[in-house]
Amino acid sequence: MSSEDQRDKLKQHFSKRVTSQARIVLDNWQKLKDSDWADMQWLNDLKESSAKLGKFASRFEMAQHQMVANDLTKELNSIKEDATSLDDLKKEKINKVISALSECTQRKSDSNNSAAPRTFLRTPIYIAINNKENAQRIIKQLEFFGFRALSFDSGEDLIKAAKHNKPETIVIDVNFGGEQYAGIETIKSIQANHEMPVPIIYTSEEDDGIEIRLMASRSGGEEFFYKVVDLGQLIEKIEEYTNASPLDPYKVLVVDDSRAQARYIENVLTKAGMTTCVITDPMQVLIALNEFSPEIVIMDMYMPGCTGMELARVIRQQDKFHSVPIIYLSAEDDINKQLHAMSLGGDDFLTKPINPKHLTSTIHNRGRRARSLLALMIRDSLTGLYNHTHTLYLLETEIAKASQNGTKLTFAMLDIDFFKKINDSYGHPIGDRVLKSLSLFLKQRLRKTDHIGRYGGEEFAIVLPNTSESDAKVILNEIREKFSELRQPAGDIEFQVTFSCGVASGPTENAQLICERADNALYEAKRAGRNTVRNYREPPSQS
Ligand code: GH3
Ligand code: MG
Ligand code: MG
Repeated sequence: MSSEDQRDKLKQHFSKRVTSQARIVLDNWQKLKDSDWADMQWLNDLKESSAKLGKFASRFEMAQHQMVANDLTKELNSIKEDATSLDDLKKEKINKVISALSECTQRKSDSNNSAAPRTFLRTPIYIAINNKENAQRIIKQLEFFGFRALSFDSGEDLIKAAKHNKPETIVIDVNFGGEQYAGIETIKSIQANHEMPVPIIYTSEEDDGIEIRLMASRSGGEEFFYKVVDLGQLIEKIEEYTNASPLDPYKVLVVDDSRAQARYIENVLTKAGMTTCVITDPMQVLIALNEFSPEIVIMDMYMPGCTGMELARVIRQQDKFHSVPIIYLSAEDDINKQLHAMSLGGDDFLTKPINPKHLTSTIHNRGRRARSLLALMIRDSLTGLYNHTHTLYLLETEIAKASQNGTKLTFAMLDIDFFKKINDSYGHPIGDRVLKSLSLFLKQRLRKTDHIGRYGGEEFAIVLPNTSESDAKVILNEIREKFSELRQPAGDIEFQVTFSCGVASGPTENAQLICERADNALYEAKRAGRNTVRNYREPPSQS
């Protein structure tokens, strides 16, 4: 092993100890928050885990973690008696330190990533299954995907736990505890404690027929598995019902010459969780389009210098914005004028004064449709990842950004090992499931700012902005190791899958060069025996 590889390995090893302690801290904070800052036990656990994190981080020289842990410990130690006496300012301070912790835990090098943490801070998934062995199998599998799952022995315990800490979803036997339909009864009591029902996944030894399914569905049952639970399918469902991939806010460009009107709209949209960019000078629209890349445009019909309709035509002339939805705003209630406006490329028409609910629901509807149309163009239908063409486009964009900002970026290519054999041994549908499981795995373990694409059949490509080659290697190695431990279900048996990976960093002068380098490195990884991550090395010069 080269000294560089050895160093990478050590770094990876130590960073794991620190990040898993950080996870415990984040978890304790979540529990304290869930108890409305009232449960002394969680406060003490939080204090203890934070002190331990500080110790680990200092021992393993992870400065950022050390700093955050020290800040947190200081804040916590200054709390007197019980946490209920905490004022909002104090809570706010603690939340701030926690959010710094979750950020540096996600990725050490990721300084400008404001995305919410994805793998941590999750509410748990509760498992209430009679067969304990199966329950453990499910929990283990879920943990691989970054979920926190807990198993229960009795309906009573489950009810108590769900009251204290509302789970994201519950997987439960219809006859949990042994009595007929006891599971459904337990769920009914749990749902009574919550305004928003918990999504439930029911399992049953036998197909109980329509009556039971109805009962289950009325109690919040979203899914019904009977006889054998297909773990792959179960995890896909759990992913759906949890907030693992929260919807990104819609990006809306507002063009209105009236400052007051523009601010009003901005206010309504921001409150509805959308991201806005406001311009009051219609002549700035091209700049705003390019800089902000809106998904939806809202604009006034009549503005000085040009009309909304003329502006729409200009926007539509650009390929990139050919299908961006345009919504007009106007006091105009003349139906003929509205129709004319629509014929010039507007999608919707809202009459002033605008009802906030109407505005946000129109944007939601338009946004959803625009996104699904866009997805057809840029995403791969099996995995939902970016397709080959779009991945290359993103790579080019990130190379340009990195050159401009003087930052690093790394490109990784992954290829599943002996995938043909998997298809041959277990069948094509199981092969497809493996592809989906790797894609889900990558989505869960990478940052929101990383771009993940399906490059070809069983090949994936990842663009990691602001990431050095050695950091990327550490991260991908961890993913590689964890993925290889994952048990892939195929009927009654399970098998394991590995991948090889090549990384190259840039910016290089163009996307093609970095692709070739990553591909070279991937080839090296395959040649070295597979299930490994390699970086690109310059060939020795001939002179
Ligand atoms: P290596 O370790 O050298 O990468 O070996 P390999 O078997 O993975 O590589 P090879 O390129 O020989 O085989 C890739 C296989 O992937 C062949 C093809 O049938 C299969 N494949 C490609 N796309 C899909 C897909 O969408 N679904 C499934 N199930 N299989 C696919
Ligand atoms: Mg291949
Ligand atoms: Mg392969």
